[in-house]
Amino acid sequence: MMNRPDPEAIKERYDYVKRRITYACTQAERAVHEVTLIAVSKTFSDSYIRVLYDLGHRDFGENKVQELVTKSDSFQYQPDYNGIRWHMIGHLQRNKTREVIGISDLFHSLDSLRLAKELDKRAEQAKTQQQCLVQVNISGEDSKYGVAPEDLHPFLSATAGFEHLVIKGLMGMARFTDDLEEVRSEFAMLRNLSSTFSGSLGDQGSLDFFSMGMSHDFEVAIEEGATHIRLGSAIFGERAYTNQ
Ligand SMILES: *Cc1c(COP(=O)(O)O)cnc(C)c1O
Repeated sequence: MMNRPDPEAIKERYDYVKRRITYACTQAERAVHEVTLIAVSKTFSDSYIRVLYDLGHRDFGENKVQELVTKSDSFQYQPDYNGIRWHMIGHLQRNKTREVIGISDLFHSLDSLRLAKELDKRAEQAKTQQQCLVQVNISGEDSKYGVAPEDLHPFLSATAGFEHLVIKGLMGMARFTDDLEEVRSEFAMLRNLSSTFSGSLGDQGSLDFFSMGMSHDFEVAIEEGATHIRLGSAIFGERAYTNQ
């Protein structure tokens, strides 16, 4: 982990990202408050998070459960840094479900029924409900996690039976490409799936949230209806590890 943030550089990038979000919202005739910016802090140390917190930012995302637990624990004991909302955005192994319950305000990567069952059980034991998004494999790439679009309907019907999970919407990652029209069609697919299947959840949940868009494609995502965008490098700078 890199331990010495450059607060000026982070502020500059953060301000620039916020201006781009505002502009994209204007273009799409949407209100800025409809889009929650999640700062993806994976691989960056607490000191980076504090810089952004001091600028008023509260939503942070992590893709590895161990890093999420370590950071959320550490901030619990930093009384000046209350009220952080943690988003778990990465694939979770079933044997790690216990650790995210009670930490993750929104779990973005619900990608299998076996995981749903396990999370539901852990949430019940903790006497809580876990808010979740269903990750859909919108790019169709084998390397990506997520429920296949054609399996989404039965998946949603099944999760409607889990009383300790509240499904709030869908999450997707577009293909990593410069072809923005391809990216746009994948994001549009996520939105169309939601309008087709929003009735499948009964009264337990809804599909109002769309977590889509990263540093290289968030403007397209906003145009296609994103309510949550997940940005790492555009805010914190390039990560030292390329495999995350
Ligand atoms: C790392 C990550 C991001 C952010 O990626 P950037 O390209 O740095 O914006 C978003 N979503 C997920 C699931 C990630 O793992």
